Amino acid sequence: MDVIYESSRDKKKKKKGMDAILEGLSSDGGLYVLHNLKSKRYPMKSLCKQNYCEICETLLSLFFSEFDEVEIADMVHQAYANKFDTDEITPLVTLHDAYVVELFHGPTSAFKDIGLSVLPQLVCKALEKKQKPEKLLFLVATSGDTGMAALQGFKDVQHTNVIVFYPKAKTSLIQERQMRSAFADNVRVCAVEGNFDDAQTGIKKLFQDEDFKERLNAKKQTMAFANSVNIGRLLPQLVYYFDAYAKLLRRGEIQENEAVNFVVPTGNFGNILAGYYAKQLGLPIHKLICATNENNVLCDFFKTGEYDSNREFIKTNSPSMDILVSSNVERLLYYASNQNHMYVKKCMMDLKQMGCYKIEPEVLANMQKDFLWGCANDQETLDTIQKVYENERYVLDPHTATAYKVLLENKDPQHKSIVLATASPYKFAHDVLKAIAPLQSIQDEFEAMEYLYKKTKIPIPNNLQNLKLKPLRFYDVIQKEEMKAYILKVVEEF
Ligand SMILES: *Cc1c(COP(=O)(O)O)cnc(C)c1O
Repeated sequence: MDVIYESSRDKKKKKKGMDAILEGLSSDGGLYVLHNLKSKRYPMKSLCKQNYCEICETLLSLFFSEFDEVEIADMVHQAYANKFDTDEITPLVTLHDAYVVELFHGPTSAFKDIGLSVLPQLVCKALEKKQKPEKLLFLVATSGDTGMAALQGFKDVQHTNVIVFYPKAKTSLIQERQMRSAFADNVRVCAVEGNFDDAQTGIKKLFQDEDFKERLNAKKQTMAFANSVNIGRLLPQLVYYFDAYAKLLRRGEIQENEAVNFVVPTGNFGNILAGYYAKQLGLPIHKLICATNENNVLCDFFKTGEYDSNREFIKTNSPSMDILVSSNVERLLYYASNQNHMYVKKCMMDLKQMGCYKIEPEVLANMQKDFLWGCANDQETLDTIQKVYENERYVLDPHTATAYKVLLENKDPQHKSIVLATASPYKFAHDVLKAIAPLQSIQDEFEAMEYLYKKTKIPIPNNLQNLKLKPLRFYDVIQKEEMKAYILKVVEEF
């Protein structure tokens, strides 16, 4: 049976999975959703025996009917074989208060690698099937980690080009360095004067800009969206929820059907939304715990039902979560409103026009059933890194530390809790050192990495170790109003 997606804002806008991937975002601005998600089931009986790639195959075949088993197995193999520094892909570590799933063993040392390893494979296969002559131009807005993961994932992938926009001086130095030294012929990187929301909004606007699309098409390019709203990125993120559960079963840490909590450092709401999908498919999840930094729009939203992005944007020590407009919330709203397209559309129009919206009490109650929430400021984040290092000799990165802090506040003796670790501590070595070796004076990020290694003996990931030697290739900086003109100029060079 065909799996069909529809826009969260208009049920008449339907697409096959393959086309939803190529497009990324629906032309009405809505996100592609599955109307019958709640009637789909993961075959839980086989889960215990499956490894990461097998789970990924099972999930992709549930969500895409255009690809057969052989094609799916091939894509999963291409995505993960030898690209991660462990065959387990996402190892599970046992600490005193929780289990930690490490999502950062991919080529750029952050969890974005999980989705962005599979997306290019899905894109290639889809293009092959459609025999599309034109090129796909992926526009990427990044708060820091998506950019490099996309540059890496799409590196030299045929028929695709990638332009990454990052907010100038608002990512970590390592993140910026990674992106600016990316080496491939089909990629460009540009800084935008503004924050992540400006970059993301700028790209979303272009999706509704007919003049822009025509001018791109005249250059034989079709625009596509590789942000976490793309289902080709979102769906691969379900895998580690199932994989972590399977591991706990095999290790005898939980009984069959025992419900667990997942604690998720959250920004654009893609990671935690994947957990919500996993729960709908039958994975026994008690609560999904949403952890944010001081940009705590989401906590207020879960508490009060009012989503209010009209507030100061705060630059924190967990920059990949410095986001005020969390795109994937729209999908949760779709399901929590019982798939009421008009309602979702109205909320999103309010958000666009006024920067805020308020949901009905019933919709809020639906959301609160599945979620808990909490936030951490920079100091609390550092304190948590320090405490966990001191007590367990385990090093958290600042993003993961926000989640750990929220977990410690919400201790639940009835359920085991699993924290999703989203970045290698080496990606934010400077801040991590502030927590565990505060007296050390450190010149730069590379020295910080070396020192962190000396102290912890955890190996530095190769990609970060080698970064120092790589020459910078990209120097462009533009105003946020200039994105359209910039793109039209740059595509000439591909
Ligand atoms: C992107 C990112 C997050 C936030 O994930 P979302 O899916 O945007 O909620 C958290 N931590 C790190 C390190 C990230 O790169």
